[in-house]
Amino acid sequence: MAETIFDKIIRREIPADIVYEDDLSLAFRDINPQAPVHLLIIPKKPIATINDIATDDRELVGHLFYVARTLAADMGFAEEGYRVVMNCNEQAGQTVFHIHLHLLAGKPLGWPPYTERMKQG
Ligand code: 5GP
Repeated sequence: MAETIFDKIIRREIPADIVYEDDLSLAFRDINPQAPVHLLIIPKKPIATINDIATDDRELVGHLFYVARTLAADMGFAEEGYRVVMNCNEQAGQTVFHIHLHLLAGKPLGWPPYTERMKQG
């Protein structure tokens, strides 16, 4: 698959505010935060979209959620609440084709998560 900006962040070729790293994953602050806390949790293995998750990747994807819940606990917003989402392809708003969980917290998060403009469309 094509390289993305996230590969460069993993290799430290471009800067990012990294909050967590282990052998399998990396978490860093979104450059354009949509909430007081907006983290991206990515696998180090490049997987373009949810559609590309292979049978062997199931544990890895579960690990991303485990990192999310651990960061929520460690950063102190687990009980207050937070949202974890992953966009798939263009209509869902995916812009970086290396799967990533968005972890959003620190304010009331509306639901459903679409705008008036999108409802009309
Ligand atoms: P998507 O739209 O694919 O679900 O989410 C991609 C996210 O990556 C966006 O929220 C965007 O702000 C974030 N992003 C794009 N480029 C960079 C970057 O270079 N650094 C960081 N930290 N976040 C980025």
